[in-house]
Amino acid sequence: MSARKTAIQSIASHKVAPTQNYLEHAGADIYGQYVFGESVQREYLPKPIFRRLRRTIDGLEPFDTVIADAVAHGVKEWAMAHGATHYTHWFVPMTGSTAEKHDSFLSPDGEGKTIAEFSGKNLMQGEPDASSFPSGGIRATFEARGYTAWDVTSPIFLQVEPNGVTLTIPTAYVSFTGEALDHKIPLLRSQEALGKQALRILRWFDNTTSSRVFTNIGPEQEYFLVDRRLAEQRPDLLLTGRTLFGAPSPKGQELEDQYFGPIRERILAFMMDLDRELWRLGIPSKTRHNEVAPGQFEMAPVYEPTSVGSDHNMVVMSTMRRLAPRHGLMLLLHEKPFAGINGSGKHNNWSMATDDGENLLDPGNNPHDNAQFLAILAGVIRGVNVHADLLRAAIADAGNDHRLGANEAPPAIMSIFMGSQLEDVLAQLEAGGASASKKGGEIELGVTSLPVLPMDATDRNRTSPFAFTGNKFEFRAVGSSAPIYWPQTVLNTAVADSLSSLADDLDGVAHGDFAGLTSILSGIIRDHKQVLFEGNGYSEEWHAEAARRGLPNNKTTPDALPALSTPKAAELFARFGVLTERELAARAEINWERYVKVSNIEASAAIDIAKTLILPAAVKYLGELAVAAGASRGIAAVSAKVASLADNLVDAIHALEHAQHEAHGSDSVHAEAHAFVDSVIPAQAALRAVADELETLVSDELWPLPKYRELLFQY
Ligand code: ADP
Ligand code: MG
Repeated sequence: MSARKTAIQSIASHKVAPTQNYLEHAGADIYGQYVFGESVQREYLPKPIFRRLRRTIDGLEPFDTVIADAVAHGVKEWAMAHGATHYTHWFVPMTGSTAEKHDSFLSPDGEGKTIAEFSGKNLMQGEPDASSFPSGGIRATFEARGYTAWDVTSPIFLQVEPNGVTLTIPTAYVSFTGEALDHKIPLLRSQEALGKQALRILRWFDNTTSSRVFTNIGPEQEYFLVDRRLAEQRPDLLLTGRTLFGAPSPKGQELEDQYFGPIRERILAFMMDLDRELWRLGIPSKTRHNEVAPGQFEMAPVYEPTSVGSDHNMVVMSTMRRLAPRHGLMLLLHEKPFAGINGSGKHNNWSMATDDGENLLDPGNNPHDNAQFLAILAGVIRGVNVHADLLRAAIADAGNDHRLGANEAPPAIMSIFMGSQLEDVLAQLEAGGASASKKGGEIELGVTSLPVLPMDATDRNRTSPFAFTGNKFEFRAVGSSAPIYWPQTVLNTAVADSLSSLADDLDGVAHGDFAGLTSILSGIIRDHKQVLFEGNGYSEEWHAEAARRGLPNNKTTPDALPALSTPKAAELFARFGVLTERELAARAEINWERYVKVSNIEASAAIDIAKTLILPAAVKYLGELAVAAGASRGIAAVSAKVASLADNLVDAIHALEHAQHEAHGSDSVHAEAHAFVDSVIPAQAALRAVADELETLVSDELWPLPKYRELLFQY
């Protein structure tokens, strides 16, 4: 029996085993159990230390190293009480995944025993030997040191595994020269930049109570699960996270019976396991459901401040990856694991809030609040329009290239969906103020010039990369596997730029002069409304219309990345202290390199699979056909067809090898990336087309790779 058949047999008898004690109360018994959160801090820290730490966590004062030893002691006592033997500084280098190196608490005491040690310095600073992390040229080998520094705002947590527990400290990662080598630092800087400019706007509106503005993030996470016994027979899934070959399944997603459908027992067991683990980690996992494609699912947490929510999304992804095997499953976070059906994204729900609890993207219900809302909204519109190229670049990678612009995902053109009612309000604003919707009695406080907002302005549009959804924006074009720090950093910075320009303009306008405000906002809408689009983002017409409007449409990563290397980008990130020119250049370089490396791995894997798995299957089948061909005209025809496809396969393999070889000869990484787009990727697609046709002809018994219909439906 073929390995595929054996796997399918064992799937049929798979039994779902419980992995969690579901009688434990999710809120009271387990929520935050693995987190050094507020109540544990109160328990393990002396009162004055606790108070000062809280003020730092709340962003009210910088961390004072004087309290570091005391905090470290409390953290260690708590961690050891939970069985921890090791600690690690956890960070997010520019590899796109997280990094950790574990050290035990043990120190020899000189008398053949050990004592447990964990100092303030251990807590606050680490020095991982990090010469192998990408730095984009920032960290020359002679200054190879990198430092990790505790990010006080992100909760310390425990990684609890069957054989032990590791105390995990979220950190930022900098070079010897103080330059950012990670995703966290620029995000924190962009938060500060945005907060500062937003506060200037609030002050114009006579807000004197808020002391801080920050952003919130609620990332909806899409993913696929496939049976591990099948997935392990697919080298492409193991090495690249997506299928490089595979004929379409006769049944795909056309019946639309998967979306929000009943969740299979085995998948639900995984989801329940995941939820409880996340709750223990203090991650507010909220929503779970079947997604559109067969084998595709989604989870969404309750939103949190962006730096915490971004760290949590990394933990969500790694927890999913860790738990899937317990259920005999393999997690696929790739943006496009299967051709021909939906890919996966991350929908980043984003808003700005004050420390005293006001959501700045909430329209509010009096004219004064509405005016402030419209000012902030105009700021976002301008930011997305002026920096559309950067937002596109921030979500560009080899994986997302397969998804953006495909007919189920937002296009590569950045535009904003507002909903028809708000669109109408903005049109009135552009025209100079309120018109049709003026209602007697509603317009007071001297705000008569501004349009009245509708009560519930929440249309939906799945085709928009950036949609307003009532009291938040949803950045839908982000890839499912991507860390969300970088797209959010770019968004924050783009909006900081706009709010700063608006605040500059308002400096010349007396507080309460709403006519003056209206005229400024009207100008912003007039200049930037080209980025607003209400229609179908998947349509051909939109591509033509966007071209007429002059909106950038960068279809591939090599088209998108140059935006990071313009004087405009360098000036923007430097002006707001988010990235120096060198830091930005390093990031761009890492993106280029990564694109080439990922594409190259895929080409190599495709060649390997075609040569050593697919071609031999075709040859075997030809042997079988040869036996029967003499007796049957039909079989002789099939045999001729398979033989000709086998020839084409060999030719296509050679063509791909040749294209890959030529690409490697490019004289820069940029030229190499373009060579992949122009010749390697098309050659790989041509190879796939031949192989996929063979799959539809070769005997099922002989086909070596689990098929789409098995991966998508057998679990
Ligand atoms: P929708 O149906 O509009 O997509 P959901 O209630 O399903 O909204 O929420 C989707 C995600 O958006 C969740 O993660 C949720 O916590 C998050 N979210 C809700 N309100 C906000 C907000 N003000 N800021 C950021 N994220 C938010
Ligand atoms: Mg949503």
